[in-house]
Amino acid sequence: MTATMSRLDTDGNVVELRGVTKRFSRRRVAVTAVDSVDLTIPSNITFGLIGESGSGKSTLARCLLRLHDVDAGSIFLEGDDITHLRRARLRRVRRRMQLVFQDPYAALNPRMTIEDSVAEPLTELMGIRGRALHAKVRRAIDEVGLAVHHLARYPHELSGGQCQRVGIARALAAEPALVVLDEPTSALDVSVQAQILNLLNTLQRERRLTYLLITHDLDVVRYMANVIGVMYRGRLIETNTAEAIFTEPRQAYTQTLVGTTP
Ligand code: ADP
Ligand code: MG
Repeated sequence: MTATMSRLDTDGNVVELRGVTKRFSRRRVAVTAVDSVDLTIPSNITFGLIGESGSGKSTLARCLLRLHDVDAGSIFLEGDDITHLRRARLRRVRRRMQLVFQDPYAALNPRMTIEDSVAEPLTELMGIRGRALHAKVRRAIDEVGLAVHHLARYPHELSGGQCQRVGIARALAAEPALVVLDEPTSALDVSVQAQILNLLNTLQRERRLTYLLITHDLDVVRYMANVIGVMYRGRLIETNTAEAIFTEPRQAYTQTLVGTTP
């Protein structure tokens, strides 16, 4: 069965979620990890998603990336309804949205050189080979602040920050519109975190990327995000500009989270 792809006029918004719901059952007890979430992410911004551990942030991102099937609701990417896409058509939209993982070592194949790791999405998702591939890998590695001599190395020979740069190069290789950053710096040394965040900001400007940034680190979200959504028990309870979330949070939960309880 091929799902028909409907379109929605989303005014240039990269992501539109309508009523997205995801349940898990554990020992026959249903957990609603994501509950009726409506969410809009305009183009070229960083949308920060915050909320305590277990509030459903990662599950929401995995629904959006189509790594989970949703139980209810719709997912639109650049106006296209991707909620029920399968196989070939899903592969095509996967190019447009990529994930940067929290653990940069776990995200890379330990038996692949950095060159092969960066080449993989270019070949798999874009069909690039030979000399064009060689040139693209070099450009990608340069863009994330690594050097040609890193290409022959293996992940365990690189620092955490260098591995995360490789992860970012892989994510950006297929020229996505949306990049999901799930705790992208929380596994890194504090001294390296700012460098990675600055790199992400530079790449966003240069490539007009849209980021969905998931983090429990309020300093990170405040530094990076234009708009912030707050999740609580699977629900998106408040969305506002980053400034407003920190200076005039409306929900009691948000006030507690950002530490402005009157
Ligand atoms: P967060 O990223 O905000 O910490 P998660 O999205 O990881 O939260 O988890 C939300 C809820 O869904 C939690 O109760 C978690 O235990 C549950 N959950 C997440 N993934 C799974 C899964 N694959 N199977 C069963 N339960 C899950
Ligand atoms: Mg998570």
